[in-house]
Amino acid sequence: MKNLDLEKRITLRYTIALIIIAILSTSSFYVLYKSLQESSSTAYIVNIAGKQRMLSQHIALDVQRIHHVLDNHHEFLYKVDNLLESLSGHIKEMQEANRALSTGKLPNGETMILSQAVYDSYFGELDLKNRVDEYTQISSELYRYKELDNVEDIVSEIDSKSKQLLIDLDKVVKVYELEGSKKLERLQTLEIIAWVCILFTLLLEVIFIFQPIVKKIGSLMDENSKVLDTLEKEVELRTLKLQEANHSLQKIASEDPMTGLRNRLTLEDDIEKAIVNFKKYEAPFAVLMFDIDWFKDVNDKYGHDVGDKVIKEVASILQKSVREEDKVYRAGGEEFVILLNRISLEATQKIAEKIRLLIENKVFKLDETDFSKTISGGLYHSSLGKPKSIAYVLKIVDNALYKSKEQGRNQVTQAI
Ligand code: GH3
Ligand code: MG
Ligand code: MG
Repeated sequence: MKNLDLEKRITLRYTIALIIIAILSTSSFYVLYKSLQESSSTAYIVNIAGKQRMLSQHIALDVQRIHHVLDNHHEFLYKVDNLLESLSGHIKEMQEANRALSTGKLPNGETMILSQAVYDSYFGELDLKNRVDEYTQISSELYRYKELDNVEDIVSEIDSKSKQLLIDLDKVVKVYELEGSKKLERLQTLEIIAWVCILFTLLLEVIFIFQPIVKKIGSLMDENSKVLDTLEKEVELRTLKLQEANHSLQKIASEDPMTGLRNRLTLEDDIEKAIVNFKKYEAPFAVLMFDIDWFKDVNDKYGHDVGDKVIKEVASILQKSVREEDKVYRAGGEEFVILLNRISLEATQKIAEKIRLLIENKVFKLDETDFSKTISGGLYHSSLGKPKSIAYVLKIVDNALYKSKEQGRNQVTQAI
């Protein structure tokens, strides 16, 4: 919920920032475009004004030449025609320029709004509009030079007007140039303002959009790693618990709860391994099977609890009588098996005999009376006959135990 709000807020801020940047970029582009347009218009109009200034000179020169030719070389009339043609061209151009500059309607189709200064120059005190019109008007009178008898007057009028006109037209050119550069300055300032605004917006974007995003990402990553840590610990704990459970399950499955000895299930697995080792490496092994003699009597005489106690004590004697690497099993009831790996037949016989004697000499103490018990055993050693299978080994050792029972108990019989 919180994240969603943050997402919305950041998206909104980002969109606003982008819109602002888009507006500023567009206006910056527009200002630049306008600047270029203005500078080309300014150049154009300055050019026309300059041309007008130059034309006034040309007209004055044309008038002088015509006068000169008319005065001295009447035979070269064709030359006067040429000069009149040039004069008429210049007059036409000047009239056009005057129209354009005084109305703002430029020959290239653009329209200029006349500034106050320009307007004043053309229609105010300087009265340039009328003076230029008058100047061209007087000059054009020379077209009819043949009918005129006051050519001299026209020439001197043009001469006198042209000087002041040149000065005033020059003033207008200067006004145009000044206005043009002022306009450009204004546009440049606008551009700088737009540029600063873009930079400022970008700065705000960094402070109010990117910084919170980076902070949020950082805190989310922290949260994630914390969650991961907790999960890892949880998994570790569960694994540990599972291992413990597995271990106790294994113990339950492989151990006899009353005596703590291994049980029948593991016995078969271990004999299997001993057989494999024997086949692979000829590692000798032995199996001893013991059964307490006349055990039922204990239960009958002293009760089941005493019977249990006897079973436990016999188990303890068996465990203590063998080597560390040997394994003792409670095969069922009052029957026990011992698996001895990498042992000779003689050593097995000795251990079996030792056990038999230890039990025989053991005195089971009760509150009121003491009693003793004996055990009978069967002995198998891999040197006595090849261990074909687990069943085979257990069978022959069981037969040997049975023989011991038959032959009077309290003895160990060798299998085969
Ligand atoms: P023998 O083996 O010498 O032929 O005679 P036995 O009396 O020992 O033989 P039998 O197999 O007839 O009796 C075994 C008795 O062991 C029977 C059963 O009640 C008793 N027994 C088996 N398991 C337990 C046990 O866990 N606790 C007690 N108290 N008695 C058990
Ligand atoms: Mg018995
Ligand atoms: Mg028995």
